[in-house]
Amino acid sequence: MTRFVAILSLSIAFLTASFAVRADFVRGGGGLAEKNIDFAFVNLARFVNACLWNVSCDLTPAERTLLVEMLGDLPREQPPQFVSASRNKSLFQLAGGGPRLAVTEFVVGRPIYVNTDMLYQNDSPEGVKALSVPDAVAMLVHELGHHHGWRDHAALDILGSKVQTFAISVSQKIIYSRKQSQLSIQTYDSQSMVNLTQVLVSDGFELYDLGPQLRDALQCREGVLVGGHLDNVHFNLFEKSPESELNPHYVTAVADAQIFCGTEERKGLHSEDYFRVRFRMLVDNDEGGLYFLRLDEPIVVEFLDCSKDFEACSG
Ligand SMILES: [Zn+2]
Repeated sequence: MTRFVAILSLSIAFLTASFAVRADFVRGGGGLAEKNIDFAFVNLARFVNACLWNVSCDLTPAERTLLVEMLGDLPREQPPQFVSASRNKSLFQLAGGGPRLAVTEFVVGRPIYVNTDMLYQNDSPEGVKALSVPDAVAMLVHELGHHHGWRDHAALDILGSKVQTFAISVSQKIIYSRKQSQLSIQTYDSQSMVNLTQVLVSDGFELYDLGPQLRDALQCREGVLVGGHLDNVHFNLFEKSPESELNPHYVTAVADAQIFCGTEERKGLHSEDYFRVRFRMLVDNDEGGLYFLRLDEPIVVEFLDCSKDFEACSG
């Protein structure tokens, strides 16, 4: 039987862009860290490709070869499985070390087991922090590297952190600046004309991928949408404050957009500019005054053509 291998030293986990979560968080289907990992897995090809195509990712020839192989075999890989080490003591325990964040085997397509006991950091000054999307990207690259025969954990830590660092460098995260707010919007841009900036909204409990809504909302002046970049994302604090922020109220955020349009075959690409995207969400408070997104109202994504509607784009 293939020996399990451990991934990711403790030191690399919990880098930047973590989310705070309520300590008593219990919800079916996993918490925010699990959702961040699932998102990273589903979108891993974009993170890896962005790194491969950008010199600032600074890959060695061997790392480049491994990432290309990894991309080719991604369709054969399965989503990570979440297991508590307290219930499966031997699974994450390797000789000569403490419990590991994740383990797998040296074969493409074999399961990646993620230790749910290590996904949340309890001793942070801001409260409990969940493993972030960039952390998850590093973990998955490390793990999938083992599937391709790399046995050197340290080398895979380095490669994972390169892809992770690149993911952070093309991301933006804004936090709604209200007391006790953990409401945030996070974007990831793959710096490609044929991709759309990814947009994630989280209140610290739930994670919403606004990609499909954004793609539906964007409209080319000429041709069909191929890709686009969102920039300058910010909460619209110019809006009148609600009577009491302890009641349910709408929060809006806006971003500038540049889009790339062409034919159905993605030919004749041209850039269109001077657009704005507006995100509108209903938030509520619990007894402790902590904000959360209301699940009964979908987040609305609006696309504004500032050349036609200057008023709507001001502010
Ligand atoms: Zn390893």
